[in-house]
Amino acid sequence: MFEKALIMSYYYIKIGIGNSNRRYIMQLTDAEIKEILARQKLRKRMQQKRKRRRMIFFILLIIIVALIVILKPAVRISERLEERNRKAAREASYTGPPRGTIFIDPGHGGMDSGSVGEEKRYEKDDTLRLSTEIRSYLESYGFTVVMSRTEDKEIDRDVRGKMANDAGAKLFISIHRNKAESDGQGVEAYIPKRNDEGSRLLADNLLNALEKEGFVKRKVTAGTLNDPDSDYEENAAATMPAVLLEVGFISSDTDNALFDDNLGRNARAISKAIDKTFMTLYEPEKAAEAAEEEARMKKLTDEILYTTLEGMSGLVPTHSKETEFQK
Ligand SMILES: [Zn+2]
Repeated sequence: MFEKALIMSYYYIKIGIGNSNRRYIMQLTDAEIKEILARQKLRKRMQQKRKRRRMIFFILLIIIVALIVILKPAVRISERLEERNRKAAREASYTGPPRGTIFIDPGHGGMDSGSVGEEKRYEKDDTLRLSTEIRSYLESYGFTVVMSRTEDKEIDRDVRGKMANDAGAKLFISIHRNKAESDGQGVEAYIPKRNDEGSRLLADNLLNALEKEGFVKRKVTAGTLNDPDSDYEENAAATMPAVLLEVGFISSDTDNALFDDNLGRNARAISKAIDKTFMTLYEPEKAAEAAEEEARMKKLTDEILYTTLEGMSGLVPTHSKETEFQK
């Protein structure tokens, strides 16, 4: 009886109860009533489910929008902090007189995109990215750095060399990336065909430094790729020691990973090589000091290595170690 009343009230609310409906309900068996009730319950549950789903979707939407609104400035703040830290480190690390001007030339730019790798990876972007990092390091070593470009613009190759002359630069480094049809890999350097000692020293130091960062070391070439009697225009125009440096192949996944994952380390390695060359050519006293320091460090590492090996193998008698290092 109660169930019949329930269904009647349902009909009343939903469709308005008339005489025909009332008669229809009274004729229903208990089983039919139960089925109608079960169907109603199911419908209600489905509606609730839909409602809940809509609710979850809205909450997620709100969370995503909130994250975007909050995170964007947060990223910008962290970037600004990082830049400030780098600047502070730069200023803190060098207090002496200015040492001299280094010219850094990020290869290509503007309409001239240089070599193009997979997924429209442009050489001109890689060269600018790395050069900007190099400038940071060089400034922290006390150098004045002049760059041929700090944005995406085209400059003639000979003009880049002339800019270095006008700036009174002591060293000229043009940053590039290589490309090969087959599977070329590694770092290489081109120096002017005049093959002067300074350029060769700079090129050797640069390749050795990058080899330590994991790049395959290729050769130093005087002249151009195909002709030892001609010059790349920037190398010909620059009157100081000059190197056109190919920092890995843009066509090699291995080199691109080495380039991207270690951008800072590569920049530091290049900057250290420039610093070392500068000392040898222009600051002989400092170079001697640095060489002494390097020898001291090498001796120390050798000692540590020796002690460790001895501890591991027990092959080296203790007294022989003592005589070796008490000299
Ligand atoms: Zn190039």
